[in-house]
Amino acid sequence: MFDKVLIANRGEIALRIHRACREMGISTVAVHSTADADAMHVRLADESVCIGPPAPKDSYLSMPAILSAAIITNADAIHPGYGLLSENATFAAMVEEHGFTFIGPSSEHIRMMGDKIVAKETMIAAGVPCVPGSAGSLEDPETVRATAKRIGYPVLIKASGGGGGRGMKVAEDDSQVVEAYMSARAEAKSAFGNDQVYMEKYLSHPRHIEVQILGDAHGNVVHLGERDCSLQRRHQKLLEEAPSPALNPEARARIGKIAVNAIKQLGYLGAGTLEFLYQDGEFYFIEMNTRLQVEHPITEMISGVDIVREQLRIAAGSPLSFKQDDIKFSGHAIECRINAETSDTFTPAPGKVRDYHPPGGLGVRVDSALYAGYTVPPYYDSLISKLIVHGATRNECLMRLRRSLEEYVIAGVETTIPLHRRLVNAPDFVNGEYDIHWLERFVGLKK
Ligand code: ADP
Repeated sequence: MFDKVLIANRGEIALRIHRACREMGISTVAVHSTADADAMHVRLADESVCIGPPAPKDSYLSMPAILSAAIITNADAIHPGYGLLSENATFAAMVEEHGFTFIGPSSEHIRMMGDKIVAKETMIAAGVPCVPGSAGSLEDPETVRATAKRIGYPVLIKASGGGGGRGMKVAEDDSQVVEAYMSARAEAKSAFGNDQVYMEKYLSHPRHIEVQILGDAHGNVVHLGERDCSLQRRHQKLLEEAPSPALNPEARARIGKIAVNAIKQLGYLGAGTLEFLYQDGEFYFIEMNTRLQVEHPITEMISGVDIVREQLRIAAGSPLSFKQDDIKFSGHAIECRINAETSDTFTPAPGKVRDYHPPGGLGVRVDSALYAGYTVPPYYDSLISKLIVHGATRNECLMRLRRSLEEYVIAGVETTIPLHRRLVNAPDFVNGEYDIHWLERFVGLKK
C-alpha cells in the first residue's frame, strides 16, 4: 500500500479522499491555489503545497505544478478526484511517466471514454444497447439532415468531447437541425477545443440510470448497483437516489449484468460509471465516466463499500475486498447537492459563510469542506456540500431527509437548500414519478 498520496483536487472531494487515506494509515498531501490557503482540505492534510494563483488553469489544472508538488513531497500516488484533471488522459500518462501511480484507470481507457463517439462504438461492440444515432461524427449539413430524417425527430446534437451538459442542442424538426448542428459545433469548439459532434434520438421521457462498477488487476469486476440521477437542470444533476424507484428487480439485474460484462471485456481498472437513459423498459448507454462521481456516497450508503478505499487498493495492485455475492444492498439513500447559487436562476453566489450548522444523527452524512467564517471563492464549481441520507426504506429516507434539510444552516450565502426543501415535498418526487425533464418544469425553467 502507498505511504503517501497527493490529492490533486479541492473542496469536499479532497476531504473525502483524505478521510479514506487516513483510515488506511496513508499520509496525505494537499495542493491548493492562493485562493484556497484557508481551505479545510489544506488544514487537515499532513502536508500542503501552494501550486499557483486562483485561476484553475494556473493551479489545479497545471500538470507541471502538480507533478512538482508530488516530487518535492515524495508522494507515491496521485488521486485526481472528479472534475479538474480526473479525466485528462495526458495527465494520467504523465503521472505514470514520472514514476507515480495514478489512482484511476489507464490513460488508454480515459482517452477512449473521453471521446464519446469512440465510447459508443466500443460499447456497441461489447453488446451494450445505445441510443439510436449517427455512426460517428457529423461532417456536413447534408449528412446532418439525412441522419435526423433516418432517426426521426426530435434529435439531440452532442459534443464528442463534451461534459457537464455543455455542447448539447435539441432540434425539433428539419428547420432547426442545421442551426442546432452549427451552434453545437461552435460551443464544443470553444468549451472543449474539439468541434466533433454526433447525433442521438432525443428521448422524450427517460430516466438517467447509472451503474457503479469496480474492476481490479486480477480480473475481478463487480457492480455496486444503480443510481437514479434524473433530477437535473440544464443536464446537470441536483439530487440522486439509490436504488432507483423506477426499476424492478429484473431490470436491475439486467443492467448490472450488462455493465459488468462490458467492463470485463474492456479489462478496465478502477472505479467507473456507465450512464444509461431508461425509457419504456429499455436501457440506452450514453457515456462512461472513468473516475469517482460526485454522487458516489449514495452507493456507499446502500452497499457498505468505501469506494475510495477500493480505488486505493486497486491502484496498489490488491484484489477487490469482496465478490459480487458478498455485496448486500440495504435500504435507500438520497443525496442533495447543495450549491452556492441562487435558487431561481442557478447563478453562482459565492461569498462569506457567516454561520454554519450541519445536520447529524443516525443515517445522516454531510460531505463538505465548509466552516463558519469560510469564504466561498468565485473561481471554482459552486458545489459546497452534499447532504446524504440513508433509511431502511425510501419513506424513512424521505422523512429523515426532510428533517435534515430543516436543520441545515448555511448563513451568508444563497444556496439550493430552499429548493431541496420544496422538492422533497413535491408529490411527484415523493411518489418517485419523475423523468429527466421533470425538474426543469418544477423550477419553471421549462413549460
Ligand atoms: P455530459 O457528459 O455533458 O453530462 P451526457 O451524455 O452524460 O452528457 O448527458 C447528460 C444529460 O443529458 C443526461 O443525463 C440526460 O439528461 C440528457 N441527455 C443526454 N442524451 C440524451 C438523449 N439522447 N435524449 C434525451 N436526453 C439526453
